[in-house]
Amino acid sequence: MARELGHDLLPLEAVRETILSFLSPLESVDVPIGEASGAVLREDLEVAEPLPPFDGSAMDGYAVRAADLEGASREAPVTLRASAVLFAGGVPGAALERGRTVRIMTGAPIPPGADAVVPHELTRFDQEKAEFFQPAKPGSNIRRAGGDLRPGDVPLRSGAVLRPAGIALAAALGRARLRVTRRPRVAIISPGDELVLPGEPCGPGKVRSSNAFALAASLRDLGCEPADLGIVPDREESIRAAIDTALAAGADAIVSTGGVSAGDRDLVRAIVRDRGKPGHVFKVAMRPGKPQVFGLFGGKPLFGLPGNPASALISFEVFVRPAIRRLRGESEVLDVPFGARFPFEHTYSAGRVFLLRASVEPDGAGYRVVAAGKQDSSFLSSLAAANAIIRLPPEPGRVAPGEVHPAFWIGGRP
Ligand code: AMP
Ligand code: MG
Repeated sequence: MARELGHDLLPLEAVRETILSFLSPLESVDVPIGEASGAVLREDLEVAEPLPPFDGSAMDGYAVRAADLEGASREAPVTLRASAVLFAGGVPGAALERGRTVRIMTGAPIPPGADAVVPHELTRFDQEKAEFFQPAKPGSNIRRAGGDLRPGDVPLRSGAVLRPAGIALAAALGRARLRVTRRPRVAIISPGDELVLPGEPCGPGKVRSSNAFALAASLRDLGCEPADLGIVPDREESIRAAIDTALAAGADAIVSTGGVSAGDRDLVRAIVRDRGKPGHVFKVAMRPGKPQVFGLFGGKPLFGLPGNPASALISFEVFVRPAIRRLRGESEVLDVPFGARFPFEHTYSAGRVFLLRASVEPDGAGYRVVAAGKQDSSFLSSLAAANAIIRLPPEPGRVAPGEVHPAFWIGGRP
């Protein structure tokens, strides 16, 4: 068999750039902070007040004037009279006098005059007094006002994904509401006369419809509202009607699988080519996932992914995930690849970039490939066992033991 020539195929990066060039972030909305997890921030979070707001104790112990403990030692301890107790949330009543100490809890404000906190386990104490056995370094165990953030700092910028610590930070800055991108609504359609839903009898020659379930799950994880419009007959009117239904329901994007090859019933390809404004039919230099179509319908992107389950899901990772991240307004739509080392020899079909689904494990400072499994574009078992996709070059079709190749996580950076 003649080897496919690479030169009429487009590099996947070029196809992805073309797709991204048509997309921009959706509108932003104001949401309560409790609903912002996983959303994309659409304002710069600027600090107005210092954080922490006051000098506070980092330990349970005794607030002292360091000068009072000069020369303290096990042989010659210094004893200070305890004049008060300060709890978190309390306000110091008066400045600390020389020769006195104040019992203080973690988070309580440091009384004026005190310049160090000695943890209570380094002291001997009773109700009235504490004994100190070593000098205190000025500033020790005190969290300074503004030590974390100062007015004018911008710890999170527009385009950042709000992860739990970012939400905590916004809350610590006093923000009850945040401006984020609204959830993209994504319609999923499954053209194919042969398709049957799970739960229904699967007659001779029929194929279970599985792609839409995976796409809906991925989209939900990606902060979208998926709408599965179900199986659509392989008729041009039916597929066009499904696209119209999706748009009428307010879809921001449509993902379909199947119908993009050169077969007689590959109608998604024809519809996108003839009716998309614009409509692109790509032959991509990758395996799986060579045929891809992309078009705008009513200004909304339609991603026509190939129908074979592994092709569909790998294409989703390569093209749709970055596109959705663009719609979400994420400042980075692609993850930086990591290196996956092969401890064994691996052969693959050459000629195009091979996107190997594999399971990788931490190995010293990096990652190592543990297993790859059957790579047929219609097989799901190896994809279900995989956590990463490894990008192998078009040539030579063989990876020698010890080689490291770029990889990305299925489902995005953990
Ligand atoms: P097509 O490109 O439409 O010829 O589809 C390629 C292969 O993927 C065929 O074997 C289809 O039966 C299969 N396929 C298409 N759509 C789906 C789907 N939604 N779920 C599972 N398999 C599919
Ligand atoms: Mg089909």
